Amino acid sequence: MPDTEAWTVGRLLKWTTDFLKQKESTSPRLDAEVLLATARGCERIELYTAFDEVPSDAVRDKFREMVKRRAAGEPVAYLVGRREFYSLPFKVTRDVLIPRPETELLVVALLDAAKELGVRKPELSIADVGTGSGIVAVCAAKNLPTAKITAIDVSSTALEVARENIISHEVSSRIELIQSDLFSQIDDRLFDVIASNPPYVSESEMKELRGEVAEYEPHLALYGGPTGSELIQRLVPAAAEHLLPGGCMLLEVSPMIEQQTHKIIRDHGGFDTPRTLKDMAGLARVVVAKRAVE
Ligand code: GLN
Repeated sequence: MPDTEAWTVGRLLKWTTDFLKQKESTSPRLDAEVLLATARGCERIELYTAFDEVPSDAVRDKFREMVKRRAAGEPVAYLVGRREFYSLPFKVTRDVLIPRPETELLVVALLDAAKELGVRKPELSIADVGTGSGIVAVCAAKNLPTAKITAIDVSSTALEVARENIISHEVSSRIELIQSDLFSQIDDRLFDVIASNPPYVSESEMKELRGEVAEYEPHLALYGGPTGSELIQRLVPAAAEHLLPGGCMLLEVSPMIEQQTHKIIRDHGGFDTPRTLKDMAGLARVVVAKRAVE
């Protein structure tokens, strides 16, 4: 049957939504809208006043290519090269983890800790260990206008993405990027706050990750070792050495390793009793530990 009906924005969205639903996307309509808006070079909301428009062949070709990749499992954030986090837009590539909403709790905890410490000392020094796309460092810099931030990552390609985000958010004068495995390349400087969203997925969890995560996101940023807590086991003593007395360490964790993280901190010593903050889903997500004041 000849296809005589025009491929309007409305029809493209409907067809693509049904197609992506069959391909088991959990958000087919949203995916279709975000991809079409990207192909058309507009905001998603603008599609709603363009339902009857027939996009050009160039727009449709670009859209079709992205829909094909989405149907094969590629995450939307990588297709469009950006993701919103803490109400700010960030560039993302396959060299970095896609920002997760639960990591916003790490930012909230960081800002709370900074507020408490900053009463006495406005120019706080903060380290973001495993910065990835730089989301935590950028959010800290944007919300704490006098803080100085050191953003660390072992991956040079991740640091390039972080650099672009730092520049686009105009905070490069207060964020220093350093390529380093944890603190190995950091001199003896001390920080008021150390925050990290380290890799914490265990070996058995890696096998159960959704295809999208396992196939497309960097394992370096996800895999924390056989039990998931091995990297944290290395991070805690290193962080302890770089924290000022009374300074605060904030670690994103999963409920699987929360208790183990407390144990690592207690066994290391030199911290007050750690606390855990729960995310919006009610899951243990951020462990907070203050360096003891001797
Ligand atoms: N929360 C991430 C996940 O689901 C893991 C992030 C991390 O390891 N830091 O897959």
